[in-house]
Amino acid sequence: MQEGFVSYINDQKDMAQASLEADTEGIKNTQTVIQKAINWFRARSMFVVAYGTGCGAIEMPPVFTSRYDIERLGVVGVATPRQADIMIVSGYCSLKTLKRVIRTYEQMSEPKYVIALGSCAINGGMYWDSYNTIKKLDDYIGVDMFVTGCMPRPEALIEGFVKLQDRIKNNNIEPGYIKYKEDYQFYRANQERLFGKNIAPAFIEDYTGMDI
Ligand code: SF4
Repeated sequence: MQEGFVSYINDQKDMAQASLEADTEGIKNTQTVIQKAINWFRARSMFVVAYGTGCGAIEMPPVFTSRYDIERLGVVGVATPRQADIMIVSGYCSLKTLKRVIRTYEQMSEPKYVIALGSCAINGGMYWDSYNTIKKLDDYIGVDMFVTGCMPRPEALIEGFVKLQDRIKNNNIEPGYIKYKEDYQFYRANQERLFGKNIAPAFIEDYTGMDI
């Protein structure tokens, strides 16, 4: 193919035609290859914001340390939300915690993903009747992967990561942050139902009276 293209170079007309064809094909192929590469890199470089809530926060350290060593899959912790791609909400989420979760989530740069870890984050779990704990995390922020159990073991969390990586790699995912933006009125209405109008983060300069 390369040889064939080079052999056209002496003939001006053929060269123009060959370039035209090569470009058209090239753009198509390049986009596919680049997109595949981006997805692969994205899946294999997951920065998880260092944060934990509920019992799952106890299961997470073994995942990131030498016993399970999830870094071999390209998953590492990072201290700041703006540098993170993934947030794990690792268990029950009280109203106070949810404020911080929403704030952290909105500060993360895109593309970003959320893993809901454990029954409490998925459907309220044993806190179903609680007066101060939310039932469904995905009513308030976009969630990309649910890992069931009470408490899910480190293996379950790792499987959640592997499945999420597969979906990102194969471009087989409708990311929660897209849904969050498209259906923002839905999420915002749910947030306001709990917190009223003054929800952090409302990126406004006047924080007077806000409980943050
Ligand atoms: S799902 Fe179970 S282990 Fe997880 S936060 Fe709820 S009670 Fe704790």
